[in-house]
Amino acid sequence: MTKQIPFFNYPALYARDEARLQPIITDVLRRGAYVMQRDLIEFEGDLARFLGVKHVVGVADGTIALMMGLRAAGIRPGDEVIVPSHTFVASAAAIHHVGAQPVLADCGPDHLITAEAVHCKLSPRTRGIMPVQLNGRTANMDGIMDIARDHNLIVVEDSCQALGSKFKGRIAGTFGAAGTCSFYPSKTLGCYGDGGAVFTNDDALAECLRLFRDHGRSSTGDVVTFGYNSRLDNLQAAVLKFKLAGYDSEIRRRRYLAGIYQSRLAGLPDLLLPPAPDSDPDHFDIFQNYEVECSRRDELRAHLDSQGVKTIIQWGGKTIHQFKELGLNSDVPYTESMTGRFFLLPMNTSLSDDDVHYVCDKIHQFYGR
Ligand SMILES: *Cc1c(COP(=O)(O)O)cnc(C)c1O
Repeated sequence: MTKQIPFFNYPALYARDEARLQPIITDVLRRGAYVMQRDLIEFEGDLARFLGVKHVVGVADGTIALMMGLRAAGIRPGDEVIVPSHTFVASAAAIHHVGAQPVLADCGPDHLITAEAVHCKLSPRTRGIMPVQLNGRTANMDGIMDIARDHNLIVVEDSCQALGSKFKGRIAGTFGAAGTCSFYPSKTLGCYGDGGAVFTNDDALAECLRLFRDHGRSSTGDVVTFGYNSRLDNLQAAVLKFKLAGYDSEIRRRRYLAGIYQSRLAGLPDLLLPPAPDSDPDHFDIFQNYEVECSRRDELRAHLDSQGVKTIIQWGGKTIHQFKELGLNSDVPYTESMTGRFFLLPMNTSLSDDDVHYVCDKIHQFYGR
């Protein structure tokens, strides 16, 4: 029997929550509470408690969260900011749009930036580091934070794929001046459109972020800086507040599914899996994605597709240094070598255990076992 396993099943996830969400949505609409209302304030408070940070500022999306975080933290035109090449173009775009220069760094076999990779990109103009906590895993931040301290660099984390992920017990997005999250629908905490947040423990920085998201207007309505129109919609905030209440069990489920992939697929020739959920006590991964490497990737994907299993390749299969029109540095050897191999297996909470076993069966079939 051939199953159909979509890569992501938005309608199924909505259907699961519909009965409980409808009254929440209707209530917001009936109150006419659309912009900067109590649902936003309450969600920001809940998320701050979840993260253990002092301030959460809800914004329009994860990309503007990064831009505002960089600007509020003091990145200025002409500064260089080190960022991995294996990330969504939004990470580098945020650096570009504050007038700074993205300098691309390599990643390791867990697909995350390393301290060594940061170190070899330092220059006299380096002013910041943007570690990207990719696929739900937090980089080994010890060495990266040592470099930042030794060279007096600003760290703004792109933790848009890592809400709740930890390194040595410390939560992604709380290592540097500011961290970010995205509530794009396919993110682990997704809303029904665009949304994002910046978080920080720094009072002055938080004040700056609140000004930036609302046209630079202070609480008295006075304009004190040039800001943006970048608020998280109140309706989305109400949805997110509801979803955040069940977020721990979402993460548990993702880690459980990752465990099935691990136990079924470990040891297959030519398939590099992400680190297993409990393989390293320093890391708590939330499995935003399940990214593997395979040298016969295109054949394997075609086989899975023919069996009803949809997979995708992040960033359309090109990391940032390969977008030649952007004109960035391309000396990132591991990233370059793995771009022909990486892709994502289905990973989300609409999948049943059987679905994941089916995907594994089809991979075994491909390898002729
Ligand atoms: C999703 C994401 C962002 C932000 O995306 P938005 O669509 O602007 O919310 C930034 N960086 C990474 C790595 C992402 O995956």
